[in-house]
Amino acid sequence: MRMSATLTRQKITFAEMRAAGVRGLLIYCADYHCSHWTSISGDRWGDDVRLSDIEPRFTCQGCGRRGADVRPDWHSVDAYA
Ligand SMILES: [Zn+2]
Repeated sequence: MRMSATLTRQKITFAEMRAAGVRGLLIYCADYHCSHWTSISGDRWGDDVRLSDIEPRFTCQGCGRRGADVRPDWHSVDAYA
């Protein structure tokens, strides 16, 4: 078995997200006990960036924990149209 490589969660790129008409992001705290979340615009990141690439950059405003779960804000499709 050659499965020694670290399994990294890969998410879609901003290009794929924008192709689906989504420009907003939902940032969830990685700590489910906290469950703090916020919504932001994803316009500042380039097309080749994956959502999983930027997750370590966030610090929760609720509990101060680093790292987050970044998801496309599908409801923003209409909001930004
Ligand atoms: Zn938190």
